[in-house]
Amino acid sequence: MAEITDVIVVGAGLAGLVAATEIADAGKRVIVVDQEGEQSLGGQAFWSFGGLFLVDSPEQRRLGIKDSYDLAVQDWMGTAGFDREDDHWPKRWAQAYVAFAAGEKRDWLRAMGHRIFPVVGWAERGGYDAMGHGNSVPRFHVTWGTGPGIVEPFARRAQEAQKAGRLTFRFRHRVDTLTTTNGAIDGVSGAVLEPDSVERGRSSSREVIGDFALRASAVVVASGGIGGNHDLVRQNWPQRLGEPPKFMISGVPEHVDGRMIGITEAAGGRLINRDRMWHYVEGIRNWDPIWPRHGIRILPGPSSMWFDATGKRLPAPLFPGSDTLGQLHYIMSTGHDYSWFILTQSIIKKEFALSGSEQNPDLTGKSWRMTIKRATNKGAPAPVEAFKQNGADFIVRDNLADLVAAMNALVGTDLLQADHIKAQIEARDREITNPYVKDAQVMNLHNARRYIGDKLIRTAKPHRILDPAHGPLIAVKLNILTRKTLGGFETDLDSRVFGTNREIIPGLYAAGEAAGFGGGGVHGYRSLEGTFLGGCLFSGRNAGRAAAKGAG
Ligand SMILES: Cc1cc2nc3c(=O)[nH]c(=O)nc-3n(C[C@H](O)[C@H](O)[C@H](O)COP(=O)(O)OP(=O)(O)OC[C@H]3O[C@@H](n4cnc5c(N)ncnc54)[C@H](O)[C@@H]3O)c2cc1C
Repeated sequence: MAEITDVIVVGAGLAGLVAATEIADAGKRVIVVDQEGEQSLGGQAFWSFGGLFLVDSPEQRRLGIKDSYDLAVQDWMGTAGFDREDDHWPKRWAQAYVAFAAGEKRDWLRAMGHRIFPVVGWAERGGYDAMGHGNSVPRFHVTWGTGPGIVEPFARRAQEAQKAGRLTFRFRHRVDTLTTTNGAIDGVSGAVLEPDSVERGRSSSREVIGDFALRASAVVVASGGIGGNHDLVRQNWPQRLGEPPKFMISGVPEHVDGRMIGITEAAGGRLINRDRMWHYVEGIRNWDPIWPRHGIRILPGPSSMWFDATGKRLPAPLFPGSDTLGQLHYIMSTGHDYSWFILTQSIIKKEFALSGSEQNPDLTGKSWRMTIKRATNKGAPAPVEAFKQNGADFIVRDNLADLVAAMNALVGTDLLQADHIKAQIEARDREITNPYVKDAQVMNLHNARRYIGDKLIRTAKPHRILDPAHGPLIAVKLNILTRKTLGGFETDLDSRVFGTNREIIPGLYAAGEAAGFGGGGVHGYRSLEGTFLGGCLFSGRNAGRAAAKGAG
């Protein structure tokens, strides 16, 4: 006999935790099922940088940033580029989500003890016109405590609900089927996996030791995306980006396997926008990996020079931090699946940040003493220095000829010509003498330094790349790093999933990455960043509240 509860949530990542705690707080009984062990509670969000998209926040205002709902919607729509009939619900989710980010999001989190680092970051700056892609102003608010800091309030609420007898976790339970009666989803069944005390993030055993079945009035699918499954990423790779990359690294643990997406489709859920994904182009192989093919994303400041595999500088406005999808498109058009940064010690020191909670012990450990060193330190942060010394993709040399020779040696080709690269760097370096210039990237540097946050901790003082006083020279091979799934199950604003007949499937809800962070693709083609965790909060909350109501 299957155990009966009010609502089942599949996935104990951020979206699942938010949904489950809302259900329990509404007085319903909820069982949260996850294939991983208890040590992985919080899923990807634990590993995240904790960056949150907020609009017109007190942190922005303190830094003199003038933001508004209208400006943010303009940016979101220019970034998303919605252009399909299937974008009906994604567009409605986008409007609702920006209103949440400009409204109650910050206060709702703050009431649960969440805090924000006061310097707001400026991600995805675009570089086209005002209606095009990108954030017109800085909006990336880093959680004080990074990923663990965003998981913590919901883990605590879940614990309280557990004590009250309303929430139960079933770890090492892998859902294999959604069960249906008379067209309504009313349960899950699957395999019990053997206990495994493997460290968080590492691949756990898939040995089956039993089976299970649960029944409920509603099931919320919050099982994440497909980024850990390169076969699925390649299968869904959009034609508009050409052939999928031959070599990719993983920005997510292996449990982001996309399996539950197929299971939900088999139960009738309508998956839309599966060809929209958000992979980074500044991936570096982790010298100290936790999960298979573990890669880290560099969150670059604006000064590094960016070259394709043949040594040609990326065209304007594809500068570091401007347009992730545009960069991916350009790089794939070169016929190679990697590119290069060339920079100086002065740039790495001030401008390199690494995405991930474990790469930012100062912010993750909530240490003001360590964090202040970002502005005052002589060297780069310790995790960046460790990559510089140990990372397979880093080359450090005193002169350009040696640097280029080592770059060619690293990839085993002679595609890069030292003279060609030297001419491009020297031309850029001549532009540094005046504060008014024609080189668009150097213009961007001057623009960035007018924002106090960038000037303080994100943008090196403009200098010549070939000035030995700022050396040594550094080259970084940049790989394609899988991360986010932008498409997902089509849902209405209550996170109810549509079937292939375009009717709501009774009893079925989806949230987080599995729902394309709401609606089946709230981001359209591109993201403004910090919108994924926020998408889990918003869609998880809507799903939880609606599923609790639906459970009668
Ligand atoms: C290093 C890193 C940095 C990031 N930084 C940011 C950032 O700064 N800002 C931002 O907005 N976003 C960031 N993100 C993205 C964000 O963390 C994720 O998109 C988000 O946490 C996804 O949450 P989720 O709950 O939808 O899915 P997940 O966290 O993937 O959780 C899904 C859970 O479902 C379980 N599951 C899957 N299938 C089954 C099944 N069949 N049966 C049982 N259980 C199953 C999985 O084991 C997992 O625990 C980052 C991600 C990473 C990895």
